[in-house]
Amino acid sequence: MSQIKTVGILTSGGDAPGMNAAIRAVTRSAIYSGLKVKGIYRGYRGLITDEIVDFKTQNVSNIIQMGGTILKTARCKEFETPEGRQLAYDTLKQHEIDSLVVIGGDGSLTGARIFASEFNFPIIGLPGTIDNDLFGTDKTIGYDTALNTIMECVDKIRDTATSHERLFFIEVMGRDAGFLALNGAIASGAEAAIIPEISTQVDQLAELIQNGFRKSKNSSIVLVAESPVTGGAMGLAERVKNEYPGYDVRVSILGHLQRGGSPTAADRILASRLGSAAIDALLEDQRNVMIGIRNDEIVYVPFSKAIKNDKQIKPELIDTLRRLSI
Ligand code: ADP
Repeated sequence: MSQIKTVGILTSGGDAPGMNAAIRAVTRSAIYSGLKVKGIYRGYRGLITDEIVDFKTQNVSNIIQMGGTILKTARCKEFETPEGRQLAYDTLKQHEIDSLVVIGGDGSLTGARIFASEFNFPIIGLPGTIDNDLFGTDKTIGYDTALNTIMECVDKIRDTATSHERLFFIEVMGRDAGFLALNGAIASGAEAAIIPEISTQVDQLAELIQNGFRKSKNSSIVLVAESPVTGGAMGLAERVKNEYPGYDVRVSILGHLQRGGSPTAADRILASRLGSAAIDALLEDQRNVMIGIRNDEIVYVPFSKAIKNDKQIKPELIDTLRRLSI
């Protein structure tokens, strides 16, 4: 039998739609299994500044449909120091919290991994990021919602691009991962996606100008992942203006609106399943794993694997986009 009695829950790093659904699932599953729950505000910072409240089932009522995170989120430099983590540990002890569920991205799970090994403290991670860049899980919480937001935005830009017969570069988020750009491009019928995963190998812009863009097309839309590797939408637009002055080029940077909004059904269900499984994992004495989903089955992914491995883009997706954009 597990010795765990009280679970602390926090959201950290970049927010993602569906984090609230995950908070709800962790809280309700824990209470269902006879555990106490404490909500920790503002990520790791709340552990250092002691912003912790008891969570009952009502604390998570009516939040499944809300974007953002009711626990707030923050970036906390102090947690990256041994002294900061010691303070965090002392706070956990004071509140008699004996396990943690951390919802966040790569950085948050890196922090969780370090803290867990330093203090031999049980932590379960949930992949909460719109970027979908955590290894070992097919999807991360927030990715589907962001993808749908991108699709809706590109649909709208297409209207004006077509009317003016313009070439649009639309910059989307994703940090060093091209999942949002590539699948966003497929979903919105864009002509191309420029993603960090292949930028180093070929001059994607030159390639797509040679192959894809024809002036006979009413409009062309290229999704660009925000990474420095791609040069961003502005940089690419400048290049086209200089090298191919015949094109009427415009740029749109979608920015933070990609993080907001009510989570899609897929994200709500994913967050509910992963949150529920986090409590199962703690009760099974699993330690220091991220809960993921693969082929629709719950999986446990050691932190070391989730954060250090490069998640590959399927070449088939790149090929599909190429074929369909002729
Ligand atoms: P995300 O989780 O979205 O990738 P960040 O990379 O900003 O976001 O990380 C969120 C927080 O996780 C940081 O502000 C810090 O508190 C913690 N963190 C990140 N990297 C480390 C690390 N190497 N050691 C300790 N804590 C870390």
